[in-house]
Amino acid sequence: MSPSDFDIEIDRNACRGAGVCVRVAPRSFALDSEQRSRTLQPIKDDRESIQTAADRCPYFAIRLIQSSRGAGSSL
Ligand code: SF4
Repeated sequence: MSPSDFDIEIDRNACRGAGVCVRVAPRSFALDSEQRSRTLQPIKDDRESIQTAADRCPYFAIRLIQSSRGAGSSL
């Protein structure tokens, strides 16, 4: 699956700025001025790195979602 096959959803209310996602996939995530994660566009890390970031987020704030070009379901 290429980066264009999925979208990243970040729950900003759940995010606590732990920065794990930024360390795991620094070309796809960054912390904003409120110390909340946001995605960088275009997404440049591979799906595996993004999934690892989501899996390691201590607040479960990241979800990978099949893009509108796919089924539109959560991965
Ligand atoms: S790892 Fe989770 S809590 Fe930490 S910055 Fe990323 S989304 Fe936010």
